[in-house]
Amino acid sequence: MNKTIPAIRSVNARAVVAPIARPVRNAFGVIEAAPLVLIDIATDQGVTGRSYIFGYSRVTLKPLVLLIEEIGRDLEGKSLTPFELMKAMDARFRLLGWQGLVGMAVSGLDMAFWDALGRIAGKPLVELLGGAARPMRAYDSYGAVDPVADERALRRSLDQGFRGIKIKGGDGDAANDERVVKGVRALLGPDVALMIDFNQSLDPAEAKRRIARLAPYDLTWVEEPVPQENLIGHARVREGSPIPIQAGENWWFPRGFAEAIAARASDFIMPDLMKVGGITGWLNVAGQADAASIPMSSHLFAEASAHMLSVTPTAHWLEVLDLAAAILANPIQIVDGTLTARGPGLGLEWNETAVAKYLI
Ligand SMILES: [Mg+2]
Repeated sequence: MNKTIPAIRSVNARAVVAPIARPVRNAFGVIEAAPLVLIDIATDQGVTGRSYIFGYSRVTLKPLVLLIEEIGRDLEGKSLTPFELMKAMDARFRLLGWQGLVGMAVSGLDMAFWDALGRIAGKPLVELLGGAARPMRAYDSYGAVDPVADERALRRSLDQGFRGIKIKGGDGDAANDERVVKGVRALLGPDVALMIDFNQSLDPAEAKRRIARLAPYDLTWVEEPVPQENLIGHARVREGSPIPIQAGENWWFPRGFAEAIAARASDFIMPDLMKVGGITGWLNVAGQADAASIPMSSHLFAEASAHMLSVTPTAHWLEVLDLAAAILANPIQIVDGTLTARGPGLGLEWNETAVAKYLI
């Protein structure tokens, strides 16, 4: 082993259910709090790498903690070389496949590997990757809204300087989507970007019908109109759509993006660090997006995504849906509608008092 390369000492995972400032209502229900798994990787340099992942549902928390620690046991003593480790984990889980909890665990570990490397170098991750932190244009990500009942919250987003707002569709009929989009567009005025997310809830024919109805409201994108694995369906919706299609938060690892791009499934892409294979996976997809001239945005994980968008040639929008504020000592700060990456590493510091309070 090369002595100049740091090594992994131990891997620890903890589950919390963290309160969030604004419940997220979508086409399938409401997310009231954030089930998170916090990962700590101790190294032989006395530095600990950190990351967190989002379990979507509390039922995933215990299995994720077990998986991460089981995989971690085999990593003890290994060199902290994310590209090599990703290759090894790919080989290890090739027959099982890594969609689902295994892929989430692997991605979370990868983020913590890179965080540790950044901390050991005493640099923000973006600088370790050869980039520089810059203010990334961010949008405020809402669940389903009502233009009247949620007017105050939406105005507060504008006061914070957000130049983009995303809302959910598909929790009612097409007339309701149009009523909401029309009302929110009137509230925002013509110069603020507005996106709508259907969270995979439509079939292609219904998606086309609804999108046609939303055409007059200058939407920046329509997100996940149909089930994420239906790449042909996405391509059908995209063909002739008056509004660009956005997708990618549920495509797994770089291979998933290669298939989606080949299928012409989407105008824009938005990988999720927890499903794309962490930092290592993101870097691969950023190259694919650049080569195919596809604008690339982020999904959740604003802290880490701010680093990654700063080194993404086709960087588009950063999503702000703050799931971790309650358990971080240094939650994200939106300045004039932008977020700037902070270090060292990914810049995550646990608020241990809060972690203890929300621990499962
Ligand atoms: Mg979405």
